[in-house]
Amino acid sequence: MSITTYIGLGSNLGDSKQLLAEAVQKLAVLGHVKVSKLYHSLPMGPQDQPHYHNAVAQLETDLLPLALLDELQKIEQEAGRVRLRHWGERTLDLDLLLYGQDEIQNERLTVPHIGILERDFVVIPLLDIDSDLQIKQQRLKDLAIVQQTQLIVLADEHWVNI
Ligand code: ATP
Ligand code: MG
Ligand code: MG
Repeated sequence: MSITTYIGLGSNLGDSKQLLAEAVQKLAVLGHVKVSKLYHSLPMGPQDQPHYHNAVAQLETDLLPLALLDELQKIEQEAGRVRLRHWGERTLDLDLLLYGQDEIQNERLTVPHIGILERDFVVIPLLDIDSDLQIKQQRLKDLAIVQQTQLIVLADEHWVNI
């Protein structure tokens, strides 16, 4: 039975729009995909790094959580991801934001993804896909960061061919 999952995508090295588009196309091999708009955001953590491109994909998949994480990490590696420093620059970051309603806690996965409710570059694109989305009974559209966001829309939902 397939589960509705959400994956956060980020990039601030290389051709970020292209890298995110290729990642979405690879996710589409794993199941049915819908994407948010494409956003420009300020870096979190170290400020001496380029701005980010961010988006969220909804993926309907049969994969179990760790198998899905394996696929996400494989796609990161294919995009040339190198770990330089914590919250530092990267060609591609794929985070498992939500896996159905599941709460997962093990050495490789925390789901819902840590910090999900504090990050406008995650919350705003999630709302593009499902404007009524709730996480642990919190309606995302009621969060203060939805009003205070500094995200810039770079492209509507048609920025990638899937
Ligand atoms: P953040 O997780 O705060 O956004 P990051 O994305 O830069 O930071 P990474 O270097 O991409 O962090 O990932 C570090 C580790 O996080 C991975 O090895 C992975 O096992 C673990 N991890 C825990 N929960 C998740 C999740 N929900 N999605 C992706 N990775 C996760
Ligand atoms: Mg991340
Ligand atoms: Mg990550």
